[in-house]
Amino acid sequence: MDKCSFCGRIKDEVDLLIAGMDGHICDRCIEQAHSIVQEEFKSKGTFDMKGIVLMKPKQIKEFLDSYVIGQDHAKKILSVAVYNHYKRLGQKVEDDETEIEKSNIILVGPTGTGKTLLARTIAKMLHVPFTIVDATVLTEAGYVGEDIESLLTRLLQAADYNIEAAERGIVFIDEIDKIARKGDNPSITRDVSGEGVQQGLLKLLEGAVVNVPPQGGRKHPEQKMIAVNTKNILFICGGAFDGIERKIAQRMNTKVVGYSAIEGTAHIDRENLMQYIAPMDLKAFGLIPEIIGRLPVLTYLDPLDPDALRRILTEPKNAIVKQYIKLFELDSINLKFEENALDYIVNIAVEFKLGARGLRSICETIMTDAMFEMPSNGHKQFTITGEYARSKVENAGMKLLKAS
Ligand code: ADP
Repeated sequence: MDKCSFCGRIKDEVDLLIAGMDGHICDRCIEQAHSIVQEEFKSKGTFDMKGIVLMKPKQIKEFLDSYVIGQDHAKKILSVAVYNHYKRLGQKVEDDETEIEKSNIILVGPTGTGKTLLARTIAKMLHVPFTIVDATVLTEAGYVGEDIESLLTRLLQAADYNIEAAERGIVFIDEIDKIARKGDNPSITRDVSGEGVQQGLLKLLEGAVVNVPPQGGRKHPEQKMIAVNTKNILFICGGAFDGIERKIAQRMNTKVVGYSAIEGTAHIDRENLMQYIAPMDLKAFGLIPEIIGRLPVLTYLDPLDPDALRRILTEPKNAIVKQYIKLFELDSINLKFEENALDYIVNIAVEFKLGARGLRSICETIMTDAMFEMPSNGHKQFTITGEYARSKVENAGMKLLKAS
């Protein structure tokens, strides 16, 4: 008589008995086993922190290369910083005198050039919890806006409330330049969104145990706080720092003694002053020295030229063009983009200064009709020509693009 190899019940006593190679299992034991598995996964969380496989800086950069176009300098700096950061986490301080300090990162560069994408890609690679917060919504406690601790709430949520995982996660703080002190003199009037927030961020950046409201906000005063240690959280800050080139130029002018300004020195690339960015420029821009000290890794991103935009369309692992091809493939439709259609898309992005973010909305404008018609019209082949792309964009009107 067949019986369950786990609980011993015979066939007649159960609803279902499934045969395996050398035994059987009944429906009740399956259910029970299932809930054990679920419990086990829940307690472990989705993030298995012991499983961080630390790649070498070169491998990290290669990984970044498959998602982010260009920005070689930033990638290199970032790869080393991330490598060192996670190496530091593995360090047992008691048997080593030299404690490696945390190196949070600051990325400076025009909007839409890949700062967030770089941070997100690093988190994806490491499979650690990741969250993006906008510095502009943060305010000092007591003011309207989000308390600074709220960024840890988001990280906790991203970690499915696995505290251990959150404590090794990555927080991307966007628009850090927007909390710069306005003007160079420390003002007597309270600067709600500026210096106070910088002060508040300080302790998080350097490492502190912070009581975090798990639901965030101030709407749930009864919630029990969760203590989160930020010592091992990697903070990556990003900002456009509009106009910082002027500060860089000023500083370099004063340094080049004996020459009439920058023109006098042949080796200075005036077209791209950003590459000379130094911590003191951030200070001149209005970040307080303490914050700058907590963000020791400083690097810049280049503006994207038409060539880079063109590559962004087709090359990254999840490039926009690849996504449309995949979408059509799922309907067994062979989608092709002609070269001049791609050129046209890039030209529009450049002409209307839409940058990399605009590529997506231009493509949507071009593809909407085809995505609507193709799945039901039976055709198995579709090619986006330059002419087709142009007609769709012109039909939609430029207003649409400008709104993106
Ligand atoms: P920001 O510098 O403002 O943080 P993002 O990283 O958010 O810019 O970039 C916006 C979007 O533009 C990204 O989601 C990505 O699709 C695209 N993009 C920007 N820069 C690059 C790049 N260097 N390589 C690939 N895609 C990019």
